[in-house]
Amino acid sequence: MDQTDSSGKATPKKKKRQEQESAQEEVTEVADDVLRMQLPINMPGLGHVNCYALIDNDGAALVDPGLPSDSSFKALEDRLRQAGLKVEDCHTVVVTHSHPDHFGGASRVLERSNGRMIAHHSFHLGMRGPEKPEVAVDDLHTHEHAENGESIPEDSARAEAHKPFTPGYSFSRGPTPWGGQAPRPPFKMRMKYGLLRLLGRTFMKIPTITDPAIGGDVIRLGGREFFVVHTPGHTEDHICLHDPENGVFLAGDHVLPSITPHISGLSVDPDPLQAFFDSLDTAAALEHIETVLPAHGHPFPDLAARCNSIKEHHHERLGKVKEIGREIGPATVNAIMQHLFRERSWGSMAESETYAHLEHLRLLGDIDGHNDDKGQLIYEM
Ligand SMILES: [Zn+2]
Ligand SMILES: [Zn+2]
Repeated sequence: MDQTDSSGKATPKKKKRQEQESAQEEVTEVADDVLRMQLPINMPGLGHVNCYALIDNDGAALVDPGLPSDSSFKALEDRLRQAGLKVEDCHTVVVTHSHPDHFGGASRVLERSNGRMIAHHSFHLGMRGPEKPEVAVDDLHTHEHAENGESIPEDSARAEAHKPFTPGYSFSRGPTPWGGQAPRPPFKMRMKYGLLRLLGRTFMKIPTITDPAIGGDVIRLGGREFFVVHTPGHTEDHICLHDPENGVFLAGDHVLPSITPHISGLSVDPDPLQAFFDSLDTAAALEHIETVLPAHGHPFPDLAARCNSIKEHHHERLGKVKEIGREIGPATVNAIMQHLFRERSWGSMAESETYAHLEHLRLLGDIDGHNDDKGQLIYEM
């Protein structure tokens, strides 16, 4: 069964997906001179993030060094120790995109190693706007409890998804592009997250990009050359790294083995879903790939097959959106979202994903959209 498929029906006793497994202490060599080090994270739908160490004569380059927390940093130190390395040996940090489980640990590493920091030149863009979850809304609710066939309470899932890691993030009360106000969490939760946000600001440092990269750049890591592949979609600044000689592809969150990344409609790109499709095509067309190393989950071999199945999942969803529109007539994003998702997933994140799909269809000319007299976007199939 395609794990990314969502039928909209309750599926008890779902198996824990590989991206949700908690971080293993064991360090594994997943390709020549490439070590997989799993660091702990606790985000909806995710149990670990893979930090890859690319080993060379001078030490190591780290790709995605995890969250800024003490526990993540301790785990990183421990994994490096197993490989005979220290944080001071990490002369380079590469960050695939501007999400905190990927870049959060970078500053701490670089303060100790005085190394260089590589990310896409538009890196800061991903920090604008409201906090977004890492994985698609469908995949948020299979976290941990999924093993027992339970679902996590809606509020805690939503609160987790709103974890205030992004600087400047606040529960926005401003209107969304599709009309209406962003949902406001209960007072108690606002207090709790207000406090966490303050703490987050003090301990989360945004790394300085010493070596901004663009697609097509060639960078030397782990004693060989990697091509930078710009893959906007999940974020505008997402990059992957490709070493064609050894068939290694570092995929970040662009292509995950069994879940799909969150594609937000709240993006500087008018059609982030199209950007994601284009980036999936780019990745699928690459030759000389034997080992795909995702930021969450286990290595896998067939990049093109996985890209195509993720595209298929979104095309199915686009078909479902059109079907809903034909069934219910002219409708708001919220109304379409309520037909597309299970009730426990309803909320701003599900609206944002629905909006991304609707805007994609509208820009293709498949559906119409207009504002009603209350400023709400109305879509018509
Ligand atoms: Zn991400
Ligand atoms: Zn991620």
